[in-house]
Amino acid sequence: MRSYQMFINGQWVEAVSGKTFEAFNPATGEVNATIAEGGVEDIDRAVKAARNAFESGPWADTTPSNRGRLLFEVAQELRNTSEFFAEVESRGNGLPINETRHIAIPSMIDVLEFYAGLATKIQGETLASPNNRFNFTLKEPIGVIGAIVPWNFPLMLTMWKLAPALAAGNTIVIKPAEQTPISTLELVKVFQEVGIPDGVINVVPGYGQGAGRALSSHTDVDKIAFTGSTHTGKLIMQAASKNLKPVSLELGGKSPNIIFADANIENAIRGSMFGIYFGQGQVCAAGSRMFVQESIYDTFMDAFTNKVKTIKVGDPLDPSTQMGPQISLQQLERIEKYVASGIEEGATLSLGGKRSAPVNNGYFFTPTIFEDVTTDMTIAKEEIFGPVLSVIRFKDEQDVLEKANDTIYGLAAGVWTENVKRAHRMIKGLKAGTVYVNTFSMLDSVSPFGGTKQSGFGRELGFQAMDMYTETKSVWMDLSDDHLNWYGI
Ligand code: NAD
Repeated sequence: MRSYQMFINGQWVEAVSGKTFEAFNPATGEVNATIAEGGVEDIDRAVKAARNAFESGPWADTTPSNRGRLLFEVAQELRNTSEFFAEVESRGNGLPINETRHIAIPSMIDVLEFYAGLATKIQGETLASPNNRFNFTLKEPIGVIGAIVPWNFPLMLTMWKLAPALAAGNTIVIKPAEQTPISTLELVKVFQEVGIPDGVINVVPGYGQGAGRALSSHTDVDKIAFTGSTHTGKLIMQAASKNLKPVSLELGGKSPNIIFADANIENAIRGSMFGIYFGQGQVCAAGSRMFVQESIYDTFMDAFTNKVKTIKVGDPLDPSTQMGPQISLQQLERIEKYVASGIEEGATLSLGGKRSAPVNNGYFFTPTIFEDVTTDMTIAKEEIFGPVLSVIRFKDEQDVLEKANDTIYGLAAGVWTENVKRAHRMIKGLKAGTVYVNTFSMLDSVSPFGGTKQSGFGRELGFQAMDMYTETKSVWMDLSDDHLNWYGI
């Protein structure tokens, strides 16, 4: 069986405690590897290494173009080995190989290239200053970044933090999810081969309660970038308040996906299926509440359900598989509890709702549809993070806006309509960080992504993310011959 150490200060090391944990293949239930389990002391070592690398040594002196070049070299190496990373990711978290091969890995590399290019384009401003005074701003790296990442898209979500952080000149300590540390440990090997200086990237695998908590509460960490559940986001904010370090939080969602009678129905069916079943429903922006206008409800739902029945659930490494396993037995059981609550609270289970024929002992679940859902039901309110769709009828724009916005979350929302005026009214009315019109779950390096309400704050990707990894320094210079003499002495 394989084993992995942690990566601190350019060295592969065991945990100070000597502890290890196991990472499983969710498609088979078998152990993928044994991993060194980081705790408080390991985080402390990693933060010290990151601090040293930030304050002195080759990284502190590196030029923006050299940083950009190094990141481009890593990206090229990742392109050369992308199939390896697609397989590692699929084995680690059960994403179908088609999704890692064609979405997660290319998108991760694209993000790295985007920020490699931005390394040389970080600019301050020259401001309109009073006579004989000169004011300008510098955009400087913040320092040591702590990145805490979930298991659903480990490499992609790590890169959303790592690439802008390094492009701006920061150093970083990454705490991958305990379910999926392997791909991140493999990723850091590529940075090491390409020559990233020691201490610039450190990876400390471990549990949230151990390494995660130690990182978010460490007083020598300058910023925490977190993606994960809303519950953990609140704990991280509390922990980060110890030294008032800024946090960016990309949290959960219960995103509405609205189908008007005037939509292109074929496209709405395809896009809505992708919106909820992509990644087995383990997607923060998943369109897990589908609102269908009354006048087309029956015909739309017949056609939609028939298409969903054709989704092929199976071995993630088989290219014909459309849905792989859920991440863990715990997650499978959580989904089952939500299904039971949906039935108990009076929704109609019209498809699925049960485990599907397992490949070996994998954690597979069938694509599931609940109809006759009302907004007060648990399955309409809470994030299930599985392939469970709650369908709600609506009358008109006002009705659906009220229902769609009736949530603590505000990550994403989708609208299907051929009426451009209606589309604009909905864009304005929906309270979400991202609105999709006639599409769902689109992402690109150029486009900022993040939430409102309890889906978090801060924007990853795009130019905006650079603001989260730089500090603005305002500089005043007196150009007069006589210095301002306030006291007349
Ligand atoms: P989680 O919050 O349980 O764990 C996420 C990470 O936080 C893991 O690395 C975990 O070890 C760590 N962690 C747990 N407790 C901690 C603590 N007390 N202190 C510090 N770190 C701690 O979430 P998850 O189950 O891994 O991921 C699923 C959640 O992530 C869903 O709610 C989903 O919506 C969200 N998510 C959001 C986005 C987004 O961009 N908004 C993207 C993907 C996933």
